[in-house]
Amino acid sequence: MTDKINSIIKLLEKRYPDTVCGLDWQGDPYKLLIMAILSAQCTDARVNIVSKTLFKRFPTPNDMANAELTDIEKEIHSVGLYHSKALALKECCTRLVEVYGGVLPSEMNELLTLRGVGRKVANLLRGDVFGLGGIVADTHCIRISRRLGFTDGDNPLTAEKVLSKLIPIEKQSDYCHRMVLFGREICTARSPKCDECELNLYCDYKDKT
Ligand code: SF4
Repeated sequence: MTDKINSIIKLLEKRYPDTVCGLDWQGDPYKLLIMAILSAQCTDARVNIVSKTLFKRFPTPNDMANAELTDIEKEIHSVGLYHSKALALKECCTRLVEVYGGVLPSEMNELLTLRGVGRKVANLLRGDVFGLGGIVADTHCIRISRRLGFTDGDNPLTAEKVLSKLIPIEKQSDYCHRMVLFGREICTARSPKCDECELNLYCDYKDKT
């Protein structure tokens, strides 16, 4: 399995030499935290648009913590699930300010105490902000891992555990960013483009073309 994943990593690095997070967080951990929470069931493009005005209005965790819920809701209305997301942003930032002095913690168990932060978001933050690695088991990562034969189900925790053992820490974040690009472009949920896929040789997907 290690040889297989290493070959896959090399091929993906060739296809996508530059990897960037789809969220335009501009190197500010607070922004990535907020944008990652907003991105649940929403496109990165939409989150990037909404965040521009959101961060003008609430530029710091303290501003978000002290905002009126209805004001946050107005700003994020178009991302969907806006009521629960607004509540998550406010409560997350309240804890961030009160417990961590407004500075994002790096430990998984600390990140998971912030409202709106599950393992997927926590791994994204640990990888992109702190360089600690982390498997972001999103829909693309889970689907492609299953098709490639690394996992046999849709459980995000299983995908996270399996891949985090196989992929070196320093490559984990970029691997996941590349999975998103690959999942959108080639190994799509419906009608994957197997005939033009360089991972075809390594793929167990029974319905591949
Ligand atoms: S061969 Fe098809 S199913 Fe397998 S990874 Fe490539 S696109 Fe996805």
